[in-house]
Amino acid sequence: MDFFYSNACKQFIGGEWLESSSGETAPVINPSTGDVITKVAWSNEADVRRAVKAAATAFPAWAETPVIKRSQILFRYKQLLEEHFDELGRLVTLEHGKTLDEAKGSVRRGIEVVDFACGLPALFKGETLHNIGGGVDYETYRYPLGVCAGITPFNFPAMIPLWMFPVALACGNTFILKPSPQTPLTSARLVELLHKAGLPAGVLNLVHGGKETVDAILTHPDIKAISFVGSTSVAKYVYETGTGQGKRVQSAGGAKNCAIIMPDAETEPTAHAIIASSFGSSGERCMAVSTIITVGDASEKILKAVHTIAASLKVGPTHSDPTVQMGPVISSEHLSRIRNYIEIGIKEGAELYLDGRTIKVIDEPNGFYVGPTIFRNVHPDMRIAREEIFGPVLCAIQADTLDAAIEIINKSEYGNAAVIFTKDGAAARELRHRAGAGMIGINVGVPAPMGLFPFSGWKDSFFGDLHVQSMEGIDFYTQKKVVMKRWF
Ligand code: NAD
Repeated sequence: MDFFYSNACKQFIGGEWLESSSGETAPVINPSTGDVITKVAWSNEADVRRAVKAAATAFPAWAETPVIKRSQILFRYKQLLEEHFDELGRLVTLEHGKTLDEAKGSVRRGIEVVDFACGLPALFKGETLHNIGGGVDYETYRYPLGVCAGITPFNFPAMIPLWMFPVALACGNTFILKPSPQTPLTSARLVELLHKAGLPAGVLNLVHGGKETVDAILTHPDIKAISFVGSTSVAKYVYETGTGQGKRVQSAGGAKNCAIIMPDAETEPTAHAIIASSFGSSGERCMAVSTIITVGDASEKILKAVHTIAASLKVGPTHSDPTVQMGPVISSEHLSRIRNYIEIGIKEGAELYLDGRTIKVIDEPNGFYVGPTIFRNVHPDMRIAREEIFGPVLCAIQADTLDAAIEIINKSEYGNAAVIFTKDGAAARELRHRAGAGMIGINVGVPAPMGLFPFSGWKDSFFGDLHVQSMEGIDFYTQKKVVMKRWF
């Protein structure tokens, strides 16, 4: 907790915790209560310039540090993350509002990327092909890019930063992290722990703030690559502006994921998987299923089962009540936006089957609560079926055939996940093969890949060529040199 009242609120530049150069701050709010937890430094362009200078100064020595030594620091980091696992989970719950189990699950997924980055020496190796002709041999070497930056959203304050900087640093880059101003505290703790593990000053820097900070990152000539995760409109802006400045950019955006439920799906496990996917993290997940498409006569039994479980979920303050099953959403503005979408759905003619607006959390009247909400008889053209709501609102669409269901999925502008629940292997194969989405779940509600596989969004869910995680992440953070040689 000492950390919490001191360093968590500051920037970290060149190995020092600093206030913003303007002295400005922004409140960080516990969404379970609506109370201000602390105030975080509000960085500006001057702060970004300072961070880039620190990262650029640290780069030559870090890039020359043998990859094995870099990975040894990450092994120590991994150990510290395990030791602070509960505390990190609590920090995520406090500033984001998801339950402690969900928070710890997300920290675990982040640590898995650190595990992957610890093994980088084996993956950093180049390729050789000897005697390609006339005594000529070829070989490749990987090199870091230089200063890289990561800009992250509010909904996974540990996992998403951990998608980025461990791999970038293991590859020999230096890094600037700009977390969401709504959930900056976990990031600050992650940065602090890495320095406890022995990371040299300036290799990883932390700035805060909003658009001004992001714009300063996008336009700074010494930043070579940017990883972004957030809403589609900002993801597109970051991609277009960053690449326009000659930078390498991977930019993940929003989503609207569908689950097809075939008539042969097992009702109980399917209903539980849908509940966890749609209402887990209060629906604030880019891999959440926000629409189910029931095929044939699957509709009635599955909707009834989903409704029964959803209506019984305990909604409340996650930081203080361990029995709560669904927490608040992130802010009062976001709560209003979700409530507005519920109004839109009603006006569009969808049937409000479960109304989350009736939820009252008596002990925390200022928290940002909306309960699980279900619309049925939704038409695929309705706004609630097409647009990302990013809250606990589930739409149910009816389709006559699997073909019709896949067609609905493929009309979406988004392409993160597509899911099917069935006992029929051929139906599952059809979905896997034909769905225009990069991550497929077969009897799995949240097919978010672990660090060994790319987080493979398609269409308006991703702008760029190389995704985070796996070998794609390593390719993103490195450039190759090809040597062609012969000896006379
Ligand atoms: P957001 O786009 O509002 O913010 C993301 C980051 O961009 C933050 O650091 C924020 O400070 C910055 N930002 C916000 N507005 C900006 C602007 N106009 N110009 C420059 N920078 C700006 O997203 P959010 O509300 O924090 O997160 C939720 C969104 O993230 C959802 O759309 C969700 O689907 C998406 N998301 C996507 C993935 C994925 O892997 N595809 C993962 C998690 C979240």
